Amino acid sequence: MKLKEIYNSNKPIISFEIFPPKAQNIDELNQKINDLFEELRILSEFNPAFISVTYGAGGSTRETTLDIVTKIKNNINIQPMPHFTCVGSSRGDILEYLKKIESAGIENILALRGDPPKGETKFVKPEDGFGYANELVEFIKLNTNLGIAVAAYPECHLECNSLDKDIENLKRKIDCGADVVITQLFYDNSCYFEFLEKAQKQGINIPIIPGILPITSYSQIERISTLSGCKLPDELSQKLAENKDDSEAIKQIGIEFAVKQANELLKSGVSGIHFYPLNKAFAVKTVLENIKTEQKV
Ligand code: FAD
Repeated sequence: MKLKEIYNSNKPIISFEIFPPKAQNIDELNQKINDLFEELRILSEFNPAFISVTYGAGGSTRETTLDIVTKIKNNINIQPMPHFTCVGSSRGDILEYLKKIESAGIENILALRGDPPKGETKFVKPEDGFGYANELVEFIKLNTNLGIAVAAYPECHLECNSLDKDIENLKRKIDCGADVVITQLFYDNSCYFEFLEKAQKQGINIPIIPGILPITSYSQIERISTLSGCKLPDELSQKLAENKDDSEAIKQIGIEFAVKQANELLKSGVSGIHFYPLNKAFAVKTVLENIKTEQKV
């Protein structure tokens, strides 16, 4: 089913995002992929509309992303959605990859520009490639029948110095043919609600799906908030700091917070929630089991 039809529902849509595991050799990779599928089987009980699979920085997981996507489609019968970035690809490479995806029966794609390589601050457009995601969206729309998701940043993309400008750039992706927007993770719902309001004012009227990542470890959230620039509400930040040496307490605080966050978002009428389980079922499963019954997704 295409993204447009998926979100044309009066019930909130749930989806998950996973990443291709890293491994030193093929045996280790196969073992890690098997482990990942055990986790996905647990999560599949919550009937996600799709599972998205990231595309490694610099195109490093190009083939593994496609293998995992195909395996999800064939083995657990859930719609997979590959991510794809402009990094290191010419138009010809991109077209070839898109055709591969379509012939594998994939219906949707998350179209991204990607990050500059490690150590660099500026994204350099590949030769005969694209410099911004809106150009990729336009190319996908012209050359395929794929449904298209794009990324957004409620707390502003790190390279952009104004949220209004960043939303203006998001609008370009929608004008080029995106069907749905998925946000970067955030912990302060008020940032998301303000972002929605600004986006609506700029004429964006397709679903903007919040991304939620339940916190499961102190070092993880320190790393993630540095990388993504997401703010933690003071109360959450204080609770985490007070319990930083107690890994079980951190998990509990993270899960309780994600339940509260999801309940508030569902109550506000979001079209869905995109969860980031980081390849492990436990935290997201517990969050989904504890979301208020009347708001069950
Ligand atoms: P763009 O939409 O192109 O935006 C990039 C920057 O350029 C922004 O600051 C924007 O304001 C500005 N801009 C956009 N268009 C224009 C324009 N036409 N003119 C001038 N300025 C413009 N990365 C990966 O490597 N692999 C993944 O699988 C992956 N998955 C992701 C999933 C989600 C849900 C999200 C939120 C992010 C993901 N990322 C992934 C990270 C993403 O690649 C980076 O955040 C990247 O820096 C920006 O990609 P984008 O598609 O948002 O870029």
